[in-house]
Amino acid sequence: MALASSPPALHFRRELSQVEQALLTALLDTIAPVSLSSTEDTVTWALTPSGKFSVKSLYRKLCQGPSFQMPNGLWSARLPLKIKVFFWQLFRNRLPTSANVAKRNGPSTGLCAICNVLEDATHVFFRCPLARFAWSAVRAAANTSWDPRSASDLATIADSIHGGNNRVLWSCIGALTWAVWLTRNKLAIEGIFPSHPANIIYKCNLLLQQWSPLAKRKDAEKLKHAQDRLRQIYVLAREPSATSAP
Ligand SMILES: [Zn+2]
Repeated sequence: MALASSPPALHFRRELSQVEQALLTALLDTIAPVSLSSTEDTVTWALTPSGKFSVKSLYRKLCQGPSFQMPNGLWSARLPLKIKVFFWQLFRNRLPTSANVAKRNGPSTGLCAICNVLEDATHVFFRCPLARFAWSAVRAAANTSWDPRSASDLATIADSIHGGNNRVLWSCIGALTWAVWLTRNKLAIEGIFPSHPANIIYKCNLLLQQWSPLAKRKDAEKLKHAQDRLRQIYVLAREPSATSAP
């Protein structure tokens, strides 16, 4: 395309508004420094000095800008990769909760199937009675005072615990949150209500057992202790005389 060396004089049939005039001025300012030649156009890649495309330069560009800091120890936790990705989605609020599905015009009311209130990730994992019950059990099993009310509370807990205790923490909360999510999905998608709230503790324990081969040998005793406690709490919670969660 042949272009003049100075910006063309433009004429419009109707008068431009102030905003349109400002846009036109900005456009003319943008193209003003461009000097044209009669040589043939070529394609160049702006992110490398050589002008040639490289994956490395694109990756570096994509990694620029603010990045989300994951809580301490998550990526090195002794958990299956899918659980780490699940946590990543949880901390970024990308899980398909009812609220997120409804926001994208999906088949959802946006409400929790148990409580009939807006079901976002904070509700599923920290506010819903099902989650509160699971937290109380894991808290007792790990002999701690963990009582997070949001994903950022959970990140604060993870950041304050180091070494072997941090690995055990991730195993326990990985089992807890995954068990809550599976139970929630069964209810929200298939309409199947858990036959007993204590089943969630059983599921936690089962997951800890399944993931035990991933654990470091030196953490085995702590994890086994947590499993034994969970088993006791499950039995107590299943007893007909049990009136409240441990
Ligand atoms: Zn709920």
